[in-house]
Amino acid sequence: MKCYWLRLFPEQPVQLRDERVIPAAALRGAIASILLSTCVPGHEHDAGPCSADCRYWSFFGERAASRISAAYAGTGDQTRPFLATARTCRHAPGFKVAGGHGVFDVAIRQWMFEEACGEPGRLLVPFSLRCPVCDAALMPCEGTFTQHGERDLTWVEDIAAPATMVHTSLGRTRKQIDERYPTSGRVINRGIYFTARIDVPERLDSLLHEAVADGLWIGGRRTRGMGAMRVELAPCPPDAPLEDRIARFNRAVRAERRFYAAMDPSAAPADEGEWYFTLDMADPVLPAYDAAPSIRPTPLTLPAVKAVRQWLSAEAVGGWHQAAGLPRRTQVGARGVVLYRVPAEVNRTAVEELLNFIESEGMGTGRERGYNAVTICDPFHLNVDPL
Ligand SMILES: [Zn+2]
Ligand SMILES: [Zn+2]
Repeated sequence: MKCYWLRLFPEQPVQLRDERVIPAAALRGAIASILLSTCVPGHEHDAGPCSADCRYWSFFGERAASRISAAYAGTGDQTRPFLATARTCRHAPGFKVAGGHGVFDVAIRQWMFEEACGEPGRLLVPFSLRCPVCDAALMPCEGTFTQHGERDLTWVEDIAAPATMVHTSLGRTRKQIDERYPTSGRVINRGIYFTARIDVPERLDSLLHEAVADGLWIGGRRTRGMGAMRVELAPCPPDAPLEDRIARFNRAVRAERRFYAAMDPSAAPADEGEWYFTLDMADPVLPAYDAAPSIRPTPLTLPAVKAVRQWLSAEAVGGWHQAAGLPRRTQVGARGVVLYRVPAEVNRTAVEELLNFIESEGMGTGRERGYNAVTICDPFHLNVDPL
C-alpha cells in the first residue's frame, strides 16, 4: 500500500453542505467521474467493468482495496474533528496559546473519576470536571483542529467567506440583460486547504496520479464556475505503532489511578492487572447488521473484553452511487469514543492482533467509501491536562 495526503487547494468558490469537510463519498465521486470519462458510455458499473481496461473498475472495483478518508479544511495536513471526549471551558473556549482556558480530553479522567466516585463523600479533594482556570462548566469541542506538532494544535476557524456569482443572459435583439442568475457559494480563505488520506495498492499508484493531475471538481454548481480544486499528493508518514499507543494510553490511566490512590487508598479503583483501549471514530461507523441492537460497534468477539464507558452519537448517512447512478440507502452510523477494559487473563497478543486488523480493515461495511475507519487509542486522549 502507498499512503498519501491528498491536498485540495480551491481555485474557485465552493458549495459544500459543511465547509469544514469534503465527505469521503464526494471525493470518491470526483475521482470516479474522471476515471469514468474514458469508459463505455452508458455502462452501469454496479455489476462489473465496461471493458478489459476499465479505469473505473481497476480503481474502485470489488478487489481494488483503495481507501479514501474525508478531507478536512485546515492549515496543515493533519486536520481532523475533535474527539467526542475533547472538552474546553464554556466561558473562555480554545487552546491556551490562542488565549482560551485550554482544551483537554476526559476519556481517562472522567471515567476514572466515576470509578472512584462510588462513595464521593470519602474523597478528600472532590475532583470536578470543570475548567481548571476559572471553574466554569465545560463543553465539548465542536469542529476541527490542525496538528502541527505533538503539542502544537490550532482550532480551525475562519474557513471561508460568502461569495455570490451572477450569470446573466443577454437578449439577442435589444442587447440588454434579460435575466440574472445569482449563485451563492463560499470562497475558502487564504492559507486554508483540504486534506484527505488516501491509501492505494502499488499497482494503482500511477493511475491515482493520472486521475488527479488536472485537479478535481468538488461540491455543488460545478458547471457554474464552482468547485475546481488543484490537487497535490504528498507521502503520508505512518502512524505510531498500535502497541506504542496502547502502552502510552495505559501509562496515563495508571498515573490517574495513582492520583486517587494518593488521596485515599481505600477508595481508589483497584489495579487488577487489567488494561484499556479506546475505539475512536471520527467518521461514522456503520453497524454491519441492520438488526444490530445498539449503535455501539462490537470490535472483538471476546466476551471478557467489555465496554466500560462510551461517548457516542448517532448519525444518518446516505449518498449517491456515481457509477450506478442511484442513491444509496440511508443507514445509521455511530461516531464517538468507546472505552474498553481487557482483564489481565485475556491473551494480550490476540487482542492486539484483532485491534491491528480492525484498524487496517475498519469495522462493518463501506470501508472503501470512507466509513468505518477507526483508530485505537488516539494520542489525543493523553492530553488529560489542558493544552
Ligand atoms: Zn468502465
Ligand atoms: Zn475557564
